[in-house]
Amino acid sequence: MTKSIAINAGSSSLKFQLFQMPEERVISKGLIERIGLPLSQVTIKYGDDQKFELEEAIPNHEVAVEILLHQLEELGIIQSFSEITGVGHRVVAGGELFKDSARMDTDEDIQKIDDLAEFAPLHNKAEAVAMRAFKKVLPNVTSVAVFDTSFHTTMPEKAYLYSVPYEYYEKYGARRYGAHGTSHRYVAQRCAEMMGKPIEDLKIVTCHLGNGASITAVDGGKSVDTSMGFTPLAGLTMGTRAGDVDTSLVSFIMNKEGMTDINEMVDILNHKSGLLGLSGVSSDCRDVQAAAEEGNHRAQVALDIFVYKVQKYIGSYVAAMNGVDAIVFTAGIGENSSVIRKSVIEGITWFGCDIDDELNEKRGQDLEISTKDAKVKVFNIPTNEELMIARDIERLR
Ligand code: ADP
Repeated sequence: MTKSIAINAGSSSLKFQLFQMPEERVISKGLIERIGLPLSQVTIKYGDDQKFELEEAIPNHEVAVEILLHQLEELGIIQSFSEITGVGHRVVAGGELFKDSARMDTDEDIQKIDDLAEFAPLHNKAEAVAMRAFKKVLPNVTSVAVFDTSFHTTMPEKAYLYSVPYEYYEKYGARRYGAHGTSHRYVAQRCAEMMGKPIEDLKIVTCHLGNGASITAVDGGKSVDTSMGFTPLAGLTMGTRAGDVDTSLVSFIMNKEGMTDINEMVDILNHKSGLLGLSGVSSDCRDVQAAAEEGNHRAQVALDIFVYKVQKYIGSYVAAMNGVDAIVFTAGIGENSSVIRKSVIEGITWFGCDIDDELNEKRGQDLEISTKDAKVKVFNIPTNEELMIARDIERLR
């Protein structure tokens, strides 16, 4: 019996999904929150809707891993630690170094994740800590890192370079890296499967619309452009992120507001902008939709801008690929909001996509939602980054 665990670590949290492989069956999932704080919380779901909860001080990730594995054993989800033969870690920044998921066999391998922390300071550090913690508790299992960026390393220079002095790229790696790569890769593959065609023959635009949102042009199975940039701040309007703005606006607003610290402004662009900043209501699309329905103008404008940006990116990626066979919606908003999907597609029917209203109302499963005779197919495919991680463990074993 082979079991693999997919890990998504934050600085004070650790989310997991335990898979029975190769059946790809989720046996258990959950999270440990508030690691390092006086009262940490463990939540483990398993069986038929069974849930285990524990509150206890967990000082660091190593103790968190020990407690997690002991609890899995205690609850009978695993009989012994030795059943777990693979651990896969989601890593935010892989830079130009990691063009694919990679084995993390040695301390030197994990050190590379730490070394890339300047591209994602909060994330990579925490992910390296979690890798070391698992290595200590499960020293002999296959350990794999799966990067948010690696799917986008196939972007051509014309897509990844900024039009700034070239030496900034050479000296500092200042370029576009993108994000959400594991999600875009998963839904593009699923889309090709559902169309019954080799992915090599398809041009797909994948729209990952969650609290963080990005769109990718997938040509022949490869990412050729994506809307996030050096960091996830670029591209679409998001829950709290501004997306693309004219950088001159930054100094203009700083002068007007008397700000002297650029980090304060970057924080506003990351955490106080987007749907939240525009609507003044919430960063959560459901709240903004509800407010718009009640006649809140700013909420309606926020949604209009969100939809408009999605349409513009889709349009530009159809141009970038010189065609499109399918558009895929995924993530919280993409999977659940029939209103947003309909609004997006209704405005771009000129290149041959159309949506079936009845199919568009369904959710929670992989669905083709375009009309029968639409030239460009539209899909709603729930993303599954954890499954992609579990598959990569098998692939790299
Ligand atoms: P994250 O980027 O944090 O992983 P998610 O993919 O979970 O985000 O997406 C969260 C977003 O999905 C929120 O804005 C939430 O409002 C939105 N969402 C979830 N369900 C619905 C729904 N039924 N209608 C509209 N938006 C929804």
